[in-house]
Amino acid sequence: MNEIEVMRILNQLINELVSRRGKTGRSSINQLSKVLLSRHVHIFNYINETNKLDIGMHEKIFMFINNCEKATCPQCGKQTRFESVTYGYRYYCSDTCANLDESTINKSKKSLLEKYGVDNPFKLPENIRAARLRRITSVQKSLKDGHQISPIYNPAGCQYFNQLMLESNTFIQHAENGGEYYIKELGYWVDGYDKENNIVYEYDEDHHFAYGKICERDLRRQQEIENLLGCKFIRINARNKNKS
Ligand SMILES: [Zn+2]
Repeated sequence: MNEIEVMRILNQLINELVSRRGKTGRSSINQLSKVLLSRHVHIFNYINETNKLDIGMHEKIFMFINNCEKATCPQCGKQTRFESVTYGYRYYCSDTCANLDESTINKSKKSLLEKYGVDNPFKLPENIRAARLRRITSVQKSLKDGHQISPIYNPAGCQYFNQLMLESNTFIQHAENGGEYYIKELGYWVDGYDKENNIVYEYDEDHHFAYGKICERDLRRQQEIENLLGCKFIRINARNKNKS
């Protein structure tokens, strides 16, 4: 009997064991596997010869089929518990080691936090941008499908820009005179854009501020836009109309 033949019969046995598992319960599985294997005495011997004798039949089958040794804990190197012929070995030897690894994960979270100001890679600027672009694609698709999506904007901001245009003799594109300017590379709409002078305007309402300072997120967004357009960026505080 060659190895392929042994594997084929073993796989059959495993399938039989797994399908009977519900009916027999966990405790009798080792017993059952012995019975099933005894029908194939040569395989039984084969396994007993090729593996050590101080481990259970199920584990032997698992080791044989997967051509593996006992598994060890990635934290401490101790051997981990064998669970079942379908599951194999536990990853950690104990909860203590699993929790230790958790603290390693927290450490990497912490370094993400220090490097990028986020605790989760999904919150990295490039990933947020990717998610936003996906959202925009779906918005564009639904527009094409005939659904109307009206952008949310602040009419007071438009009035402000209208006044500013009169005073400075410039044209600032905004929601009510052509639609908010859309930066397709970044997936952002800006409140106002003076294309001729390359000035972006943001009309910041209260929710853009935390403790009197403009939000981190808005500043990152501003930086991205400045980097791309090489523009001047003017923020107007909606409350007091101060520029910054
Ligand atoms: Zn361990």
